[in-house]
Amino acid sequence: MDICSIQLDRQYRFISLLSQLIWDDVKMHKTLECFCPMCGQELTKDVDVPIAPVFGQDELICSGCGDATYIFHTLCPKCQSLYLFFSDIDIPGEMTRLAGTYTDLISKIQESLAGKVQKFEVPVPRRWSARLTCTCEEVFSIDVPLPRLKS
Ligand SMILES: [Zn+2]
Ligand SMILES: [Zn+2]
Repeated sequence: MDICSIQLDRQYRFISLLSQLIWDDVKMHKTLECFCPMCGQELTKDVDVPIAPVFGQDELICSGCGDATYIFHTLCPKCQSLYLFFSDIDIPGEMTRLAGTYTDLISKIQESLAGKVQKFEVPVPRRWSARLTCTCEEVFSIDVPLPRLKS
């Protein structure tokens, strides 16, 4: 099987792919099987996996103990290998919130300087990217679009 998984949490070693049901235009439907790191309960989760640089996000909630883990998933744009990431933290959500705080702050500074300086520009990144190298040697990235300045 062509599964490559990068695991932030090594307790999730037991991931396997049960089925590969439907392809639609941009997403592949997969059923993931794994075990809860807290109580060992066997869990399955149906996910619709997009092709990189887009990635999907789901929350895995244990039916035994209620522990919640975020799953991020994407496919290699060349060979469609599945990449999975697990985290206790909503990483894209945190990136977006942090960038939102930053752009709000810059916007407020811009407002307070209006009329006092001719131009006040601060570069703000459009996206946060993580680069991956697939076993097929394709190098690709996953992107989190970040909030823009209100202008
Ligand atoms: Zn559990
Ligand atoms: Zn690949």
